[in-house]
Amino acid sequence: MSDNRNSICISSLSARRTPVSACRKGSVTVEAALAVPIFFLAVVSLLYLMEIMAVRTTVRAGLQAAGKQAMQDACSVTAVTPSGLERNVVRAIGEERLERSIVEGGASGLNCEGSYMSPVTGIGKLFVKYEIRLPIPVFMVPPVSYEESMKIKAWTGYEKEAFGDKKEETVYITETGVVYHKDYHCTYLELSIRMVQASKTASLRNNSGGKYYPCERCAQGNSEGVYITDNGDRYHHSLTCSGLKRTIYAISISEAAGKGACSRCGG
Ligand SMILES: [Zn+2]
Ligand SMILES: [Zn+2]
Repeated sequence: MSDNRNSICISSLSARRTPVSACRKGSVTVEAALAVPIFFLAVVSLLYLMEIMAVRTTVRAGLQAAGKQAMQDACSVTAVTPSGLERNVVRAIGEERLERSIVEGGASGLNCEGSYMSPVTGIGKLFVKYEIRLPIPVFMVPPVSYEESMKIKAWTGYEKEAFGDKKEETVYITETGVVYHKDYHCTYLELSIRMVQASKTASLRNNSGGKYYPCERCAQGNSEGVYITDNGDRYHHSLTCSGLKRTIYAISISEAAGKGACSRCGG
């Protein structure tokens, strides 16, 4: 009986002792079991962080490229359509790049809603919104929203006080003119197109006393009447010739460096 008890006692002692050593081994195992996933989680998190940064950079670059295109088109279409912008952003980034990225919805996940361009100042504000989904298996993390925006000026010439706050006088120049005008309505800036007989062009003189030569831009026709301007030195066969059109640019006076003031309005 007593032997039996002893043996029980011993066995209970040994049974009590065994868990201690098992516990130490176990704690190492548990630590390893935790440390490895945590390490991988950290690595994966880092990779995702880098991917998010890469996506943001790519989208911003795409928006820049699309914005440049939109502002280039602004001379013919003075409006920014969000859907058109979206297409250009996707094209700039590459549809495939977006499809296999962590952007929610892939190539159709970009939203340029709210982008606009002011037809008065020609300044566009472009937005692109998108969501990034993080595939974390255990926790259901909702997609994170991101937004890139930029301010861009349409390529329609200069605009007074469009950017910056420098208060400078605005002067007006033409594409080919060597002088700047302080008055937008200066007669030298106005085109005075009139029709004259083609045979008389040799004897006519412009305001600066120069001769009229045939325009290189419009087709040489045999028309009786040709078009001249008081300040031009070409005669044109076509009224729609680009040589008869004049683009006037408004610039700040510091940008007109090298040009002289107009004798009529610049004084
Ligand atoms: Zn002038
Ligand atoms: Zn012409």
